[in-house]
Amino acid sequence: MRNVGLYWFGNDLRLHDNDNLLKAASEVDALLCIYCLDLQWLMPNRYGLVTMSANRLRFLKESLLDLDKQLQQLGQHLLVCYETPVKAISDLASEHNVSHIFRSRQTGYYEIQQGLALRKQLPLIQFSETDTFSLFALAQLPFPLEKLPNTFTQFKNAVEQLLVDTPLPPVKFLPSSPVLKTDWLSRFPEYSKSTSKSEHEIIFHGGETAGLKQLTNYFASDNASQYKEQRNELDGWGNSSKFSPWLANGNLSIRQICFNLNNYEQQTGANESTYWLFFEVLWREYFQLYAYHHGKRLFTFKGIKQQKPLTSFYPERFRKWCSGNTPYALVNACMKQLNATGFMSNRGRQIVASCLVNELAVDWRYGAAYFEQQLLDYDVASNWGNWQYLAGVGADPRGKRHFDLEKQTQQYDPNAVFINKWQGGIQHLPLDSVDAADWPVAAG
Ligand SMILES: Cc1cc2nc3c(=O)[nH]c(=O)nc-3n(C[C@H](O)[C@H](O)[C@H](O)COP(=O)(O)OP(=O)(O)OC[C@H]3O[C@@H](n4cnc5c(N)ncnc54)[C@H](O)[C@@H]3O)c2cc1C
Repeated sequence: MRNVGLYWFGNDLRLHDNDNLLKAASEVDALLCIYCLDLQWLMPNRYGLVTMSANRLRFLKESLLDLDKQLQQLGQHLLVCYETPVKAISDLASEHNVSHIFRSRQTGYYEIQQGLALRKQLPLIQFSETDTFSLFALAQLPFPLEKLPNTFTQFKNAVEQLLVDTPLPPVKFLPSSPVLKTDWLSRFPEYSKSTSKSEHEIIFHGGETAGLKQLTNYFASDNASQYKEQRNELDGWGNSSKFSPWLANGNLSIRQICFNLNNYEQQTGANESTYWLFFEVLWREYFQLYAYHHGKRLFTFKGIKQQKPLTSFYPERFRKWCSGNTPYALVNACMKQLNATGFMSNRGRQIVASCLVNELAVDWRYGAAYFEQQLLDYDVASNWGNWQYLAGVGADPRGKRHFDLEKQTQQYDPNAVFINKWQGGIQHLPLDSVDAADWPVAAG
């Protein structure tokens, strides 16, 4: 009997180091390659925000185009469905008698639920799931998921000596598709083209080809040898690796990055900085497992600590924070950089998150949802996990982090170069506007 497979692409938009795609190539006679862009992502969510900004849509479109181009070189093509995955995949499965479905393991609660719903709907289909997004396969870990260490340090100590698998070569052969190529591009959602001519916007192009180019360029420079000293800078292309947007979309594999880092260390020499890059990659790994383990609690106000923060929702403060119109120039500059480019440095993210929670006393989940909308590198685990950490309801044994904005400005932007570049200039506006009509009329 002819086996028909369906490869469900998600955060694994690449051909290299893709175990599951190799598996599909060897196990089925015909293969559908699909990506589902759920149009719900463009409707307001419970935070009144859309899930994907114009910057994110552009990066995704470029990633899908690049993937489609590479698939076509193998005689395949990508099918983009503008529906929920459960609906799109079950329809395709019955239409084409699909026997196998291949998907990368997901760690986000809602993504996992979609997979479970599909399995329930298609009980006769064989599902195959592999770890393409993380450094280690679940089975490699020295503890079961339920015993995930409570702190990052304990986790790091348990895993940092584990061997990272060598990345797999790109898929060279794929069975052909049972469906004809469709014009998915003409149905791709419209998005406004940013007018900003920022440095990042020019360089952050989605897709495996662009991601691999950044990987080569980064390790061809000596930036990795200075990473630890430079990673806290607010701006500057070489000050951190900038791998995150490609990693989040799966254009780059994390094992491929570690493999290149290892080669760099062998050729150029290992130092504290090269180790630190690996250290940060372990943070990413920790948050993946954290999301997987804690499920829905990743999104709750009280977080995994079940501790209620002393914050609330103030629509005006939140709006000012999003648009970079707070009384804090450094925060404004960071937010304007994010809105224009879809990227913000790690230091910037910590500063604006601390401001939202501490100075503005706004519920941290609104900040996380805004980052979800804007960040090119949005990743459910890293985003919500980092926000919980900053808000004091996550994995931080020290509790809430409150950054002194004055001190941070002195340390990271003493001459206001970054503030001026992004026009963060203090607005001299009060945090909350006061409506004179609200004041009680004086008696008498
Ligand atoms: C509030 C907040 C929200 C964040 N949201 C995201 C997100 O949605 N997606 C995301 O990829 N990162 C997120 N981060 C982590 C971090 O800011 C970015 O990964 C990093 O700035 C990306 O730039 P880079 O690739 O140059 O990183 P580098 O400094 O070069 O680090 C290399 C890689 O290590 C990983 N990494 C580094 N720092 C962290 C960290 N703190 N947590 C998890 N992984 C890390 C990333 O994959 C990164 O690409 C968030 C941090 C904060 C404080």
